[in-house]
Amino acid sequence: MIDIFPVRAFKDNYIWIIHNQQYALIIDPGDAAPVHAWVKQQQLQPIAILCTHHHHDHTGGIPVLIQEFALPVYGPANEKIPGMTHPLTEGDTLHFPELSLEFSVLAIPGHTAGHIAYYGQNYLFCGDTLFACGCGRIFEGNSKQMFDSLQKLANLLDETRVYCTHEYTLANIRFARVVDADNPDLIKLQNVVEEKLKQNIPSLPSTLAIEKATNPFLRCNQPAIIHSASQYADRRLNDPLSVFTVIRNWKNNF
Ligand SMILES: [Zn+2]
Repeated sequence: MIDIFPVRAFKDNYIWIIHNQQYALIIDPGDAAPVHAWVKQQQLQPIAILCTHHHHDHTGGIPVLIQEFALPVYGPANEKIPGMTHPLTEGDTLHFPELSLEFSVLAIPGHTAGHIAYYGQNYLFCGDTLFACGCGRIFEGNSKQMFDSLQKLANLLDETRVYCTHEYTLANIRFARVVDADNPDLIKLQNVVEEKLKQNIPSLPSTLAIEKATNPFLRCNQPAIIHSASQYADRRLNDPLSVFTVIRNWKNNF
């Protein structure tokens, strides 16, 4: 049976490990030490590293891990990933028979120019693009690219489980409650997340159904959000991309 475990790293990163009690895939290992400790403790055999983008807090552990375990490294073709053996682009598929898993690759630029996601069997590993109730900062792309990338993810099945790579959920909900003040699902979500965090349980994974109901960056066509964004921008906004651009900028200054 497949299990997906969050290894904690740095302040608020999660390094997701997909395993079946024998073999393991490691997603975005920013740090080798906690991954090493956990797979040893669980007596797992790592079989590959999957990387979503080049930022150091997602790749910093790769050199040590590949030295120890001689692993193939999958990552975005047009980014510099240490030890990359399998450069990927949109539409590529990955097969891991040891785990009976298959992923397809989605190009989701915006946070970085080459950012990719791994999607398969209702699992989505989306790095720093989609967060629970939020989205990544736009460092290398533009607002339109990020908007389109988020739309692409929103079009996947509602039951898709969303494995983001940072515990940003509560801060994101606080912002969402300002932008989308009367959304009852946000209050419910805040209660659930606060309870989990109090018990030191990760708020993740989320699901796309939850995100479509609560994430303001996926709800830029909703009247309440258009209204808040228009007030913040002090002009009437008419299209979802403009709304997205305004609330992404608003969040940066929140
Ligand atoms: Zn990043």
